[in-house]
Amino acid sequence: MRYPKLRELKEAIKALFKGPYTSRFPYEPHKPYERFRGRPEYHQEDCMGCGACFQVCPAKAIDLIDSMDKRTLTVHWDLCVFCGQCQANCPTEKGIMLSREFDLATTGKREELKQTIEKELFICECCGEYIAPKEQILWVAKRLGPLTFSNATLMLFYLMNLNLASGEKNPPKGEEFLRSDRIKILCPRCRREAVIKS
Ligand code: SF4
Ligand code: SF4
Repeated sequence: MRYPKLRELKEAIKALFKGPYTSRFPYEPHKPYERFRGRPEYHQEDCMGCGACFQVCPAKAIDLIDSMDKRTLTVHWDLCVFCGQCQANCPTEKGIMLSREFDLATTGKREELKQTIEKELFICECCGEYIAPKEQILWVAKRLGPLTFSNATLMLFYLMNLNLASGEKNPPKGEEFLRSDRIKILCPRCRREAVIKS
């Protein structure tokens, strides 16, 4: 004799009183579960523009462009596979986070399915090369504490942020580096040259 499957029977009886387990989306709004992985969103206040999310994104859904003293980060939701690697590898842990937004259907252009943020870049006083976003340098300086003062670039930026140093740029005069050029905001390549040649 075959007995009814008790677990399924229990679920069926429960569903009679509780209603169906599936949601009625799109006729009614669907509320995803707490840990649902929806579209990733940048949080301007918590992102320092380091670009780690761009480097780890396996779907190449994030663009990073450095131009005109600005770093532009764009996440393309039409390319995203919602893996969560950007959030998992964000040093601030809150710069980009997966939301619970899942309804990305649109009758517009797919290029509109994106979010862009901009971060101001810091520039080498010598060669004009981009060093890093200002917020990233400040983040590093705060974590280093007193060790910040072992690096002239970090130290000057930190003091400028406290209005204790001027942001005036003094490019080296001529080809040669002077000893005084060491106390300037320099990219790693120019700092090496300044230390070796001065
Ligand atoms: S702080 Fe986070 S969100 Fe911002 S660029 Fe870096 S990894 Fe991406
Ligand atoms: S969730 Fe994954 S695919 Fe989407 S932007 Fe982040 S790293 Fe890229």
